[in-house]
Amino acid sequence: MSDQARAPQPSPAPGSPRPDRRPLVRLEGVQKHFGALHVLRDIDLTIAEGEVVVVIGPSGSGKSTLCRTVNRLETIDAGRITIEGQDLPAEGKALARLRADVGMVFQSFNLFAHKTVKENVTLGPTKVRGVSAADAGRRADELLARVGLADQGAKYPAQLSGGQQQRVAIARALAMDPKVMLFDEPTSALDPEMINEVLDVMTSLAKEGMTMVVVTHEMGFARRAADRVVFMADGRILEDTDPETFFTAPRHDRAKDFLSKIL
Ligand code: ADP
Ligand code: MG
Repeated sequence: MSDQARAPQPSPAPGSPRPDRRPLVRLEGVQKHFGALHVLRDIDLTIAEGEVVVVIGPSGSGKSTLCRTVNRLETIDAGRITIEGQDLPAEGKALARLRADVGMVFQSFNLFAHKTVKENVTLGPTKVRGVSAADAGRRADELLARVGLADQGAKYPAQLSGGQQQRVAIARALAMDPKVMLFDEPTSALDPEMINEVLDVMTSLAKEGMTMVVVTHEMGFARRAADRVVFMADGRILEDTDPETFFTAPRHDRAKDFLSKIL
Protein backbone atom coordinates (compact mmCIF):
# COMPACT_ATOMS: atom_id res chain seq x y z
CA MET A 1 0.00 0.00 0.00
CA SER A 2 1.34 3.46 -0.83
CA ASP A 3 1.86 6.10 1.85
CA GLN A 4 -0.89 8.09 0.27
CA ALA A 5 -3.25 5.14 0.64
CA ARG A 6 -2.27 4.96 4.33
CA ALA A 7 -3.28 8.56 4.93
CA PRO A 8 -6.12 8.96 7.47
CA GLN A 9 -9.49 8.21 5.93
CA PRO A 10 -12.96 7.92 7.40
CA SER A 11 -13.32 4.41 8.85
CA PRO A 12 -15.44 2.05 6.80
CA ALA A 13 -18.13 -0.09 8.41
CA PRO A 14 -16.59 -3.18 9.99
CA GLY A 15 -16.40 -6.05 7.56
CA SER A 16 -16.32 -4.03 4.41
CA PRO A 17 -13.45 -2.65 2.44
CA ARG A 18 -12.76 1.04 2.36
CA PRO A 19 -15.27 2.80 0.15
CA ASP A 20 -12.54 4.56 -1.83
CA ARG A 21 -11.19 1.25 -3.12
CA ARG A 22 -12.37 -0.83 -6.05
CA PRO A 23 -13.64 -4.32 -5.11
CA LEU A 24 -11.31 -6.93 -6.60
CA VAL A 25 -12.37 -10.29 -5.17
CA ARG A 26 -15.90 -10.91 -3.96
CA LEU A 27 -17.36 -14.00 -2.29
CA GLU A 28 -21.12 -13.98 -1.81
CA GLY A 29 -23.06 -16.64 0.05
CA VAL A 30 -20.36 -19.22 -0.59
CA GLN A 31 -21.08 -22.76 0.65
CA LYS A 32 -18.73 -25.69 0.47
CA HIS A 33 -19.09 -29.26 1.75
CA PHE A 34 -16.68 -32.16 1.85
CA GLY A 35 -19.18 -34.99 2.03
CA ALA A 36 -21.16 -34.42 5.20
CA LEU A 37 -18.73 -31.78 6.45
CA HIS A 38 -19.93 -28.22 5.89
CA VAL A 39 -16.57 -26.41 5.59
CA LEU A 40 -17.60 -22.99 4.27
CA ARG A 41 -20.86 -21.62 5.61
CA ASP A 42 -22.40 -18.67 3.89
CA ILE A 43 -19.15 -16.79 3.34
CA ASP A 44 -19.46 -13.13 2.33
CA LEU A 45 -16.15 -11.40 1.84
CA THR A 46 -15.07 -8.53 -0.36
CA ILE A 47 -11.43 -7.71 -0.87
CA ALA A 48 -10.66 -4.38 -2.42
CA GLU A 49 -7.72 -3.49 -4.60
CA GLY A 50 -4.62 -2.88 -2.49
CA GLU A 51 -6.13 -4.33 0.66
CA VAL A 52 -4.28 -6.73 2.95
CA VAL A 53 -6.69 -9.12 4.63
CA VAL A 54 -5.30 -11.46 7.27
CA VAL A 55 -7.37 -14.59 7.89
CA ILE A 56 -6.94 -16.32 11.22
CA GLY A 57 -8.73 -19.03 13.12
CA PRO A 58 -8.33 -22.47 14.62
CA SER A 59 -7.11 -25.42 12.61
CA GLY A 60 -9.90 -26.95 10.54
CA SER A 61 -11.96 -23.76 10.39
CA GLY A 62 -11.85 -23.60 6.59
CA LYS A 63 -9.10 -21.05 5.96
CA SER A 64 -7.21 -23.11 3.37
CA THR A 65 -10.41 -24.14 1.67
CA LEU A 66 -11.43 -20.49 1.45
CA CYS A 67 -8.14 -19.62 -0.28
CA ARG A 68 -8.39 -22.59 -2.59
CA THR A 69 -11.88 -21.66 -3.79
CA VAL A 70 -10.61 -18.27 -4.98
CA ASN A 71 -8.35 -19.81 -7.63
CA ARG A 72 -10.72 -22.71 -8.15
CA LEU A 73 -8.48 -25.39 -6.73
CA GLU A 74 -11.80 -26.21 -5.02
CA THR A 75 -15.24 -25.74 -6.53
CA ILE A 76 -18.08 -24.33 -4.44
CA ASP A 77 -21.55 -25.80 -3.87
CA ALA A 78 -23.48 -22.55 -3.78
CA GLY A 79 -22.89 -18.82 -3.88
CA ARG A 80 -20.71 -16.78 -6.14
CA ILE A 81 -17.05 -15.79 -6.42
CA THR A 82 -16.03 -13.01 -8.76
CA ILE A 83 -12.75 -11.31 -9.59
CA GLU A 84 -13.19 -7.82 -10.99
CA GLY A 85 -16.86 -8.69 -11.39
CA GLN A 86 -16.18 -11.77 -13.52
CA ASP A 87 -17.25 -15.25 -12.41
CA LEU A 88 -14.39 -17.70 -12.05
CA PRO A 89 -13.92 -19.67 -15.26
CA ALA A 90 -14.60 -23.39 -15.03
CA GLU A 91 -11.89 -24.77 -17.26
CA GLY A 92 -9.48 -24.38 -20.14
CA LYS A 93 -7.31 -21.39 -20.96
CA ALA A 94 -9.50 -19.00 -19.02
CA LEU A 95 -8.93 -21.08 -15.89
CA ALA A 96 -5.17 -21.08 -16.49
CA ARG A 97 -5.29 -17.27 -16.79
CA LEU A 98 -7.31 -17.02 -13.60
CA ARG A 99 -4.71 -19.10 -11.78
CA ALA A 100 -2.06 -16.73 -13.10
CA ASP A 101 -4.07 -13.74 -11.84
CA VAL A 102 -4.37 -15.25 -8.39
CA GLY A 103 -0.88 -15.91 -7.04
CA MET A 104 -0.73 -18.58 -4.38
CA VAL A 105 1.98 -19.28 -1.85
CA PHE A 106 1.57 -22.41 0.25
CA GLN A 107 3.04 -23.63 3.50
CA SER A 108 5.06 -26.23 1.60
CA PHE A 109 6.91 -24.20 -0.98
CA ASN A 110 5.98 -26.49 -3.91
CA LEU A 111 8.93 -25.50 -6.08
CA PHE A 112 9.91 -27.68 -9.01
CA ALA A 113 12.82 -29.64 -7.53
CA HIS A 114 14.47 -30.45 -10.87
CA LYS A 115 14.43 -26.89 -12.14
CA THR A 116 16.76 -24.12 -11.07
CA VAL A 117 15.53 -21.24 -8.98
CA LYS A 118 15.44 -19.00 -12.01
CA GLU A 119 13.63 -21.60 -14.12
CA ASN A 120 11.05 -21.90 -11.37
CA VAL A 121 10.38 -18.18 -11.75
CA THR A 122 10.39 -18.03 -15.58
CA LEU A 123 8.32 -21.14 -16.27
CA GLY A 124 4.85 -19.67 -15.65
CA PRO A 125 5.34 -16.43 -17.61
CA THR A 126 6.76 -18.25 -20.65
CA LYS A 127 4.20 -21.09 -20.63
CA VAL A 128 1.02 -19.31 -19.51
CA ARG A 129 1.54 -15.61 -20.24
CA GLY A 130 3.44 -16.11 -23.50
CA VAL A 131 6.36 -13.93 -22.37
CA SER A 132 9.64 -14.38 -24.27
CA ALA A 133 12.43 -16.29 -22.53
CA ALA A 134 14.62 -13.17 -22.53
CA ASP A 135 11.96 -10.96 -20.95
CA ALA A 136 11.00 -13.63 -18.43
CA GLY A 137 14.67 -14.04 -17.51
CA ARG A 138 15.15 -10.32 -16.94
CA ARG A 139 12.01 -10.15 -14.85
CA ALA A 140 13.09 -13.21 -12.84
CA ASP A 141 16.41 -11.52 -12.04
CA GLU A 142 14.54 -8.42 -10.85
CA LEU A 143 12.12 -10.41 -8.74
CA LEU A 144 14.83 -12.58 -7.21
CA ALA A 145 16.68 -9.40 -6.25
CA ARG A 146 13.50 -8.01 -4.78
CA VAL A 147 13.07 -11.02 -2.48
CA GLY A 148 16.73 -10.84 -1.50
CA LEU A 149 17.95 -13.70 -3.69
CA ALA A 150 20.00 -12.01 -6.38
CA ASP A 151 22.75 -14.45 -7.49
CA GLN A 152 20.83 -17.54 -6.33
CA GLY A 153 19.11 -18.17 -9.67
CA ALA A 154 21.36 -20.99 -10.84
CA LYS A 155 20.89 -23.07 -7.70
CA TYR A 156 18.35 -25.84 -7.22
CA PRO A 157 15.67 -25.52 -4.53
CA ALA A 158 17.25 -28.19 -2.33
CA GLN A 159 20.40 -26.06 -2.10
CA LEU A 160 18.44 -23.26 -0.42
CA SER A 161 17.13 -22.87 3.12
CA GLY A 162 13.39 -23.07 3.74
CA GLY A 163 13.12 -19.31 4.06
CA GLN A 164 14.95 -18.83 0.77
CA GLN A 165 12.74 -21.41 -0.95
CA GLN A 166 9.64 -19.64 0.25
CA ARG A 167 10.98 -16.36 -1.09
CA VAL A 168 11.52 -18.07 -4.46
CA ALA A 169 7.89 -19.24 -4.28
CA ILE A 170 6.84 -15.62 -3.74
CA ALA A 171 8.99 -14.43 -6.67
CA ARG A 172 7.50 -17.19 -8.82
CA ALA A 173 3.96 -16.08 -8.01
CA LEU A 174 4.83 -12.41 -8.61
CA ALA A 175 6.32 -13.26 -12.01
CA MET A 176 2.79 -13.85 -13.28
CA ASP A 177 1.79 -10.27 -12.40
CA PRO A 178 -1.06 -11.47 -10.23
CA LYS A 179 -3.98 -9.23 -9.33
CA VAL A 180 -4.10 -10.72 -5.87
CA MET A 181 -1.74 -12.88 -3.83
CA LEU A 182 -3.01 -15.58 -1.49
CA PHE A 183 -0.65 -16.79 1.23
CA ASP A 184 -1.70 -19.92 3.09
CA GLU A 185 0.39 -20.16 6.26
CA PRO A 186 3.55 -19.23 4.36
CA THR A 187 5.79 -19.36 7.42
CA SER A 188 4.31 -22.34 9.28
CA ALA A 189 6.85 -24.83 7.93
CA LEU A 190 9.85 -22.60 8.58
CA ASP A 191 12.40 -22.67 11.34
CA PRO A 192 11.85 -19.65 13.60
CA GLU A 193 14.97 -17.80 12.45
CA MET A 194 13.68 -17.81 8.85
CA ILE A 195 10.18 -16.54 9.50
CA ASN A 196 11.06 -12.85 9.50
CA GLU A 197 12.88 -12.90 6.18
CA VAL A 198 9.64 -14.12 4.56
CA LEU A 199 7.38 -11.78 6.54
CA ASP A 200 9.65 -8.85 5.60
CA VAL A 201 9.15 -9.60 1.90
CA MET A 202 5.40 -9.84 2.46
CA THR A 203 5.36 -6.59 4.43
CA SER A 204 7.12 -4.74 1.64
CA LEU A 205 4.71 -6.20 -0.92
CA ALA A 206 1.83 -4.94 1.21
CA LYS A 207 3.41 -1.48 1.38
CA GLU A 208 3.81 -1.44 -2.39
CA GLY A 209 0.06 -1.89 -2.77
CA MET A 210 -0.32 -5.58 -3.56
CA THR A 211 -3.76 -6.98 -2.82
CA MET A 212 -3.16 -9.80 -0.37
CA VAL A 213 -5.07 -12.45 1.54
CA VAL A 214 -2.82 -13.94 4.19
CA VAL A 215 -3.69 -16.93 6.36
CA THR A 216 -1.21 -16.79 9.21
CA HIS A 217 -0.68 -17.24 12.92
CA GLU A 218 1.88 -14.43 12.89
CA MET A 219 -0.01 -11.83 14.87
CA GLY A 220 2.84 -9.32 14.64
CA PHE A 221 2.43 -9.36 10.89
CA ALA A 222 -1.35 -9.01 11.22
CA ARG A 223 -0.98 -5.96 13.45
CA ARG A 224 1.67 -4.39 11.25
CA ALA A 225 0.41 -5.09 7.76
CA ALA A 226 -3.30 -5.95 7.81
CA ASP A 227 -6.03 -3.56 6.82
CA ARG A 228 -8.55 -6.11 8.07
CA VAL A 229 -8.49 -9.24 10.17
CA VAL A 230 -11.00 -11.95 9.33
CA PHE A 231 -11.55 -14.52 12.06
CA MET A 232 -13.00 -17.87 11.02
CA ALA A 233 -14.31 -20.74 13.10
CA ASP A 234 -16.25 -23.80 11.95
CA GLY A 235 -16.52 -22.56 8.38
CA ARG A 236 -17.97 -19.18 9.31
CA ILE A 237 -16.54 -15.69 9.34
CA LEU A 238 -17.18 -14.55 12.89
CA GLU A 239 -15.26 -11.29 12.83
CA ASP A 240 -14.13 -9.01 10.03
CA THR A 241 -12.66 -5.83 11.38
CA ASP A 242 -9.52 -3.72 11.64
CA PRO A 243 -6.56 -5.25 13.52
CA GLU A 244 -6.69 -2.78 16.41
CA THR A 245 -10.33 -3.62 17.14
CA PHE A 246 -9.77 -7.33 16.68
CA PHE A 247 -6.82 -7.57 19.03
CA THR A 248 -8.12 -5.22 21.71
CA ALA A 249 -11.86 -5.89 21.60
CA PRO A 250 -12.76 -9.17 19.88
CA ARG A 251 -16.51 -9.68 20.05
CA HIS A 252 -16.92 -13.45 19.90
CA ASP A 253 -15.94 -15.89 22.61
CA ARG A 254 -14.34 -18.09 19.97
CA ALA A 255 -12.06 -15.21 18.96
CA LYS A 256 -11.23 -14.35 22.59
CA ASP A 257 -10.43 -17.99 23.28
CA PHE A 258 -8.26 -18.25 20.16
CA LEU A 259 -6.34 -15.09 21.01
CA SER A 260 -5.79 -16.20 24.60
CA LYS A 261 -4.09 -19.33 23.26
CA ILE A 262 -1.79 -17.75 20.75
CA LEU A 263 -0.86 -14.35 22.18
P1 ADP B 1 -7.85 -24.75 7.96
O1 ADP B 1 -7.00 -24.33 6.80
O2 ADP B 1 -8.57 -23.62 8.62
O3 ADP B 1 -7.08 -25.56 8.95
P2 ADP B 1 -9.15 -26.43 6.00
O4 ADP B 1 -9.80 -25.53 5.02
O5 ADP B 1 -7.88 -27.07 5.60
O6 ADP B 1 -9.02 -25.68 7.41
O7 ADP B 1 -10.13 -27.60 6.37
C1 ADP B 1 -11.46 -27.38 6.81
C2 ADP B 1 -12.10 -28.73 7.10
O8 ADP B 1 -12.26 -29.42 5.87
C3 ADP B 1 -11.26 -29.64 7.98
O9 ADP B 1 -12.12 -30.37 8.81
C4 ADP B 1 -10.56 -30.54 6.98
O10 ADP B 1 -10.25 -31.78 7.56
C5 ADP B 1 -11.60 -30.67 5.90
N1 ADP B 1 -11.02 -30.88 4.56
C6 ADP B 1 -10.14 -30.07 3.94
N2 ADP B 1 -9.86 -30.51 2.70
C7 ADP B 1 -10.59 -31.64 2.53
C8 ADP B 1 -10.74 -32.59 1.47
N3 ADP B 1 -10.10 -32.42 0.31
N4 ADP B 1 -11.57 -33.63 1.67
C9 ADP B 1 -12.24 -33.79 2.83
N5 ADP B 1 -12.15 -32.93 3.87
C10 ADP B 1 -11.34 -31.87 3.74
MG1 MG C 1 -4.99 -24.53 6.43
